[in-house]
Amino acid sequence: ERKAALSASSGPGATSDGHKVPLLANVGGPADVPAAVEAGAEGVGLFRTEFLFLDDSAQAPSQDKQVEAYRQVLEAFPGGRVVVRVLDAGADKPLDFLTPADEPNPALGVRGLRSLLDHPEVLRDQLRALATAAAGLPVHLEVMAPMVADRQDAKAFADACREAGLAAKFGAMVEIPSAALRARSVLQEVEFLSLGTNDLAQYTFAADRQVGAVSRLQDPWQPALLDLVASAAEAARAEGKSCGVCGEAAADPLLACVLTGLGVTSLSMGAASIPYVRATLAKYTLAQCERAAAAARATDSADEARRAVQAVLSGE
Ligand code: PEP
Ligand code: MG
Repeated sequence: ERKAALSASSGPGATSDGHKVPLLANVGGPADVPAAVEAGAEGVGLFRTEFLFLDDSAQAPSQDKQVEAYRQVLEAFPGGRVVVRVLDAGADKPLDFLTPADEPNPALGVRGLRSLLDHPEVLRDQLRALATAAAGLPVHLEVMAPMVADRQDAKAFADACREAGLAAKFGAMVEIPSAALRARSVLQEVEFLSLGTNDLAQYTFAADRQVGAVSRLQDPWQPALLDLVASAAEAARAEGKSCGVCGEAAADPLLACVLTGLGVTSLSMGAASIPYVRATLAKYTLAQCERAAAAARATDSADEARRAVQAVLSGE
């Protein structure tokens, strides 16, 4: 039955009443593209470019190497969207030439956009390589920054994109609670938001994502996390802009329905999850997703939220 449901499900992501929710793939480089295309991804919602940089921790990859890798991903999605995240170094992904060695709390230190603003030449070279790679391709290139805390960060990133002459939409990842709480202010500087729910959970619950002992607090069904998602999605709607999710939360089919009900406009996940999310979303109307989202937010724990959503969606 599962197989039948999956094969019956193809094409763009949508609720049963036709509310479109593009289903995009998370990729780490060209090697992940075939699986994304095979799963029917409508584009890429998160290209984690740091994998290109992790081969050599002493220096950034050459322009040529970057252009080649970006081009291979961009040309796989003609007419689609490809959202490229600029280098997210630091914390669990330290790079010798960018990351300070002596930070007491690397997750709270110079990581993500912060390292790039300290090394503007690395950001500039990456943005120029993206501009070169995208030239002449029929793809909608979007570029976003990791670890944006506030409007000032968003402006610094947008300025760097403009200075590099990039013909793309510029966006901010929402991974820090301050950016979710003041999403409307961040949106004065950028054209879209993308929620990184893995880090957003880490920073909301003060629970290191690499420490198994606190994994209960990393659960993306936590109502406090859903409140922050709602805050960002409502701000984007008010500004007429888009707000996707590219963290692990998007790969959980029932939670994908909840995120849709909260007003999230696209979902990006590992390619293997796309068929399951597509099939589940197609079973429910937008109004059901909205009722599920409200029921989840009315609870006090991740487990209660799961049960409440199952009850709403099974018609109990
Ligand atoms: C996230 O934090 O949710 C995210 C998508 O980025 P990463 O997992 O690469 O930190
Ligand atoms: Mg992150």
